[in-house]
Amino acid sequence: MGVYTTIDPATGDATAQYPEISDAELDTLITNSASAYRSWRTTPLEQRRAVLARTAEIHREQAEELAKLLTLEMGKPIAQARGEVELVASIYQHYADNLEEYLADESLTFKGSGTAVVRSEPIGPLVGVMPWNYPYYQVARFAAPNIALGNTIILKHARNCPQSALAIERVLSEAGLPVGVYANAFISSAQVAAAVADRRVQGVSLTGSEKAGAAVGEVAGRNLKKCVLELGGSDPFIVLDDADIDAAAAAAVIGRLSNGGQACTASKRFIVADGVYEEFLQKFLDAMASWQSGDPTDSGTKLGPLASSAGVEELDELVQDAVSQGAELLLGGERPDGPGAYYPATVLAGVTPQMRAFTEELFGPVAVVYRVGSLQEAIDLANNSPFGLSSSVFTSNAKNADRLAEELEVGMVWINSTSKSSPDLPFGGVKGSGFGRELSRYGFNEFANKKLVRNP
Ligand code: NAP
Repeated sequence: MGVYTTIDPATGDATAQYPEISDAELDTLITNSASAYRSWRTTPLEQRRAVLARTAEIHREQAEELAKLLTLEMGKPIAQARGEVELVASIYQHYADNLEEYLADESLTFKGSGTAVVRSEPIGPLVGVMPWNYPYYQVARFAAPNIALGNTIILKHARNCPQSALAIERVLSEAGLPVGVYANAFISSAQVAAAVADRRVQGVSLTGSEKAGAAVGEVAGRNLKKCVLELGGSDPFIVLDDADIDAAAAAAVIGRLSNGGQACTASKRFIVADGVYEEFLQKFLDAMASWQSGDPTDSGTKLGPLASSAGVEELDELVQDAVSQGAELLLGGERPDGPGAYYPATVLAGVTPQMRAFTEELFGPVAVVYRVGSLQEAIDLANNSPFGLSSSVFTSNAKNADRLAEELEVGMVWINSTSKSSPDLPFGGVKGSGFGRELSRYGFNEFANKKLVRNP
């Protein structure tokens, strides 16, 4: 049987290990989830609201302890870990505050007499499969709306953040969530497939790579289960001639390096208009170089280690592949000696379609800069990607911003800003970045039975 292990990415030391549960134990979790569903779905709204609000409060009360676990398990700089905990508190609070409105019946206007109403009802136990890059946030996006709606959850987290996974279950339980409504499950991919196929389970939400998304989506499809897939991204960051270059360069470095560059909506491809290319590049390189790697437990550190040495290997392979085929290394690109999964802030130029870095996701602090001669060229290059998650557009011209917003093949467009996540805004992508939306009312509706009640 496999194990879930905490390995401190700053040192490479394994500090805790948890075995996977047996098939019989998983079956018990599903039984409990199905039985908890029957009572949770009819639990008064006020009680559900109280649990969600208390969950938000506990995150704030225990912020330091919770943040430290993120730093320990995936190397997130502690200041950013505190930020994640606060964002998560705001997500639980959002669903506490909006539960009643999101659950309200919708009266339809239609031809004919009588009434037609659409109710939002839960559908049953769901499986969640989540990644390590924002261990609490990824789960909250799925758990908070579904707990609010009345669904129940079996959560398979990434195997390198077991203590964060257990902390989520503990906090929800301390907040008063009844047993079985949310259960952490240390399970294998085969057990995920078995759980999704189980007739008591009604849906699955996965955030992770395309490979994992395709595997889980296939099982969901075969078993006619609803699924939401939030997958990778290679977001364009477009800088036009008329942009505020200081603001663009400052945003670019945050967009690329926050969370060690390990974010699905990190800015990864910098597409810069010819007329401002040199100025942008110089400012961007200076800002990137100022983010030196350091100890993630230090409050002043902005760039910590990556989450694992495997992540460093994969990232470095893409950089070396590009360089060996003629890409220009403008910054970084050399793995430091010594312990820890460190990789420096890196900038590549001259990346061409035959290089892996052109199409694959660079999940770490590596930026690729492109120079374009027109707005149309910027759009074509931005859309020349298997992904379609988010995007950033820097311009002072509202017409250009509008055109980009219309023509980019993505789920989100941020104008004169990096991509951000907020509980009241929808989040999700198109193309290889998956389908479905999380957060806001849109995330709430994904696993709802929109039941028509017609009374002629
Ligand atoms: P990953 O390897 O796909 O893992 C994500 C989760 O899926 C883990 O819990 C993993 O479990 C599980 N998993 C992997 N293969 C599976 C299978 N065949 N069946 C069932 N479960 C499976 O991704 P990652 O490396 O942790 O995360 C990075 C990826 O997530 C990036 O591509 C990133 O862009 C994407 N991401 C997307 C979003 C979004 O909202 N669109 C947000 C964050 C991250 P194990 O740990 O046991 O392998």
